[in-house]
Amino acid sequence: MGNLEGKVAIVTGAGRGIGQQIAKKLAEQGAKVAVVDLKAEWCEETVGLVKAAGSEAIGLGCNVAESADVDATVKAVIAQFGTVDIMVNNAGITKDGLLMRMSDEDWDAVLNVNLKGTFLFTRAVSRPMMKNKAADGTSAGGSIINIASVVGIMGNAGQANYTASKGGVIALTKTTAKELGSRNVRCNAVAPGFIQSKMTDVLPEDVKKAYMDTIPLKRFGTAEDIAKCVAFLAGPDASYITGQIISVNGGMIG
Ligand code: NAP
Repeated sequence: MGNLEGKVAIVTGAGRGIGQQIAKKLAEQGAKVAVVDLKAEWCEETVGLVKAAGSEAIGLGCNVAESADVDATVKAVIAQFGTVDIMVNNAGITKDGLLMRMSDEDWDAVLNVNLKGTFLFTRAVSRPMMKNKAADGTSAGGSIINIASVVGIMGNAGQANYTASKGGVIALTKTTAKELGSRNVRCNAVAPGFIQSKMTDVLPEDVKKAYMDTIPLKRFGTAEDIAKCVAFLAGPDASYITGQIISVNGGMIG
């Protein structure tokens, strides 16, 4: 029996990449998973992985930047599974470019998905999480895990929109922890470093080498490295941890 047996999780951007591994890891620990991505059909592969891990899943199409979509998604999850215990705000995009040439559209697009999307899902799950009760009648609360980034802490040339969105996610995480803590709803962020994925595969070799030179553990991270940390934060072993930003980056920054 896993640490998350009977719990219900929502994972956004779970059709591929880091989100897919998070969905799989939560399922391996017993959670039922609502797999959310822009289009329902993009969720199918991950739904299959969750079921193969012996758990239950539904795939839901949802644009995390659209308030009505987000509210409808949380409603659908509650209709299917009864509640929400774990919320993983993972969906994220990049539209890189130097600040002086960055268009309003590229700024808005990244802020809307990465930061507003995290706010919208956090708002939508906060009430159902506050109402969760354990078998003995005490508050069971919930766990919200936001996927930030090392560059939301350090800044990064060419990523004004992305770094601002992730810095915002870090501040939102701390505020959420303060607002919901008294109802036993915890909120933490994972700040990945350089993780092998479609997002980073496209980078030129010299850029990848420059990153590698800054990583004491001398390897890029994997989606599973992130998923393991998320599963820990979701579960009872992290019951006294809230408002924290956990760096999973091979030692990239101190
Ligand atoms: P990815 O492979 O691009 O996956 C992101 C997922 O989010 C995709 O399935 C994408 O769908 C989905 N998505 C995009 N916009 C959405 C929207 N509006 N509504 C719903 N879903 C949407 O990225 P990843 O590398 O796994 O990254 C996952 C998270 O980790 C992101 O928040 C990212 O910023 C963060 N992160 C990644 C790294 C890294 O090195 N990879 C480092 C630090 C932080 P589509 O199929 O439509 O694109």
